[in-house]
Amino acid sequence: MCSHMMLQTHTSGLTPAASSGPAMTQKPQRSAQTTHYIELGGYQYWPVLVPRGIRLYTYEQIPVFLRDNPYITDGYRAYLPSRLCIKSVFILSNETVNIWSHLLGFVLFFCLGVYNMALVLPGISASREDYVIYSIGLFCFQLCMLCSVGYHLFCCHRSEKTSRRWLALDYAGLSIGILGCYVPGVFYTFYCNNYWRQVYLVTVLAMILAVFFAQIHPHYLSKQWKQLRSLIFCLVAGYSLVPTVHWVWITGGVSSELVQAFVPRILGMYFMAALALIFYVSKVPERYFPGQLNYVGSSHQLWHVLLVLMFYWWHQSSGFIMAYRHSHPCPNGPQHA
Ligand SMILES: [Zn+2]
Repeated sequence: MCSHMMLQTHTSGLTPAASSGPAMTQKPQRSAQTTHYIELGGYQYWPVLVPRGIRLYTYEQIPVFLRDNPYITDGYRAYLPSRLCIKSVFILSNETVNIWSHLLGFVLFFCLGVYNMALVLPGISASREDYVIYSIGLFCFQLCMLCSVGYHLFCCHRSEKTSRRWLALDYAGLSIGILGCYVPGVFYTFYCNNYWRQVYLVTVLAMILAVFFAQIHPHYLSKQWKQLRSLIFCLVAGYSLVPTVHWVWITGGVSSELVQAFVPRILGMYFMAALALIFYVSKVPERYFPGQLNYVGSSHQLWHVLLVLMFYWWHQSSGFIMAYRHSHPCPNGPQHA
């Protein structure tokens, strides 16, 4: 029902300039096959807060710099000024789940931060260092979430330059998120070995900085470098195998009680990261259902959800090993002062 009315927001051939006007007189031109999805994205039937001037476009109608995933065929916002980009947070587009998943992720890590600072850490008589490390981890996660929200909100900006800047910030945010995993991980696993703890923290920091500098390269965000970008993130995340294996070795191998307790958590992290990356790179499942997962269920949304789960998982794991360090003092006395 109402499907023909909905088609009017999507009839091909509308210029961006015509987008703000109510194109209610055109006849439906699209095949019945795509009608269903158009209904989902048509804003007239999205009940509240639909700002004038926002309409949704098909993949063919959007500017080239927004064309990244041909299997997402419809529901694109485009050509918007900043004000409408922000307002579009309340409409159903193919970015809605991306935006809200990380907006809620931000709220989650913010609340976790408040909860930990106010209740958890005082309860286990945490040191000042614990507070700092906890704060760094959660702050990085929050920043990563916000950068991602920013990108998915403003990628549809009418200026390509603005859109690209937000994309760069999204990538930078991801590096910060990875840093937020490394810092508490390295800090508490190498708690009793000050030398190696410093070595790994400095190397990780240098690596993340290197990625930042790479982003300044004008070609870094180009489509030709897409594979390279994924490879760089794989290397930054995969480097964690080095401190992990080293730590297992110096902690006494797999027979150690701590290794047995903590390694499954690390493996869980790798499993989620691998899964997230597979979705991100392969564009599965929408590759097999082109046009059917435009709004819900696409690979990038799965990547977003897995990212939040990973960060939460790692936050809990850091809490676990911190509690262990408090209850099991270092054999040679605390070296973390
Ligand atoms: Zn994203």
